[in-house]
Amino acid sequence: MNTTHREIAEYWSQHQDECDLSVDWAEAEKLCWRCAQGRMLQRCHIIPRALGGSEESCNLVLLCGQCHAEAPNVADPEFMWIWLRAHAVSFYGTYWYNRGLREYEFIYGAKPLAEIGESEKLLPRLRGAVERYIKQTSTHWGQGKLNPATIAWLLRQVEQEARNDAIPSAQPSSFQSLDAAR
Ligand SMILES: [Zn+2]
Repeated sequence: MNTTHREIAEYWSQHQDECDLSVDWAEAEKLCWRCAQGRMLQRCHIIPRALGGSEESCNLVLLCGQCHAEAPNVADPEFMWIWLRAHAVSFYGTYWYNRGLREYEFIYGAKPLAEIGESEKLLPRLRGAVERYIKQTSTHWGQGKLNPATIAWLLRQVEQEARNDAIPSAQPSSFQSLDAAR
């Protein structure tokens, strides 16, 4: 019989400190232990079955499909927890955005929006750009969430618009019409 999600969460709540993990143990049956997204969770072997790993709670963690695909497959049980803690985020809902930022830096060699800075006028305008460009993005089957490369592209489009807008000679009418449309 398969070990249940509840059994796995209960076991680890007593054997690992939730400190420095993305997920609180109280929500560990519902949220992925790496990205803390509430998606269909999979039972992920700490030591893979191919390397003799068991089906017991002590050898299982709960991950979404996207995180499961990236999880380590090694005969070193400590490394799963090193990996989970290295990827931990302090706030729910920020994991994949942070990955998108890192992907952007990897591709373009700089942080997005680094040269543009913040302005009160710009922020609502950026939100409008995200809403428009997100319609040109999609997810891989079964993942349900934009992946880092897709987020990096989205950031790039928004940044290019922002850069154009940041030039003082930009036409103010385009701001107004977009603001009115929202
Ligand atoms: Zn995940």
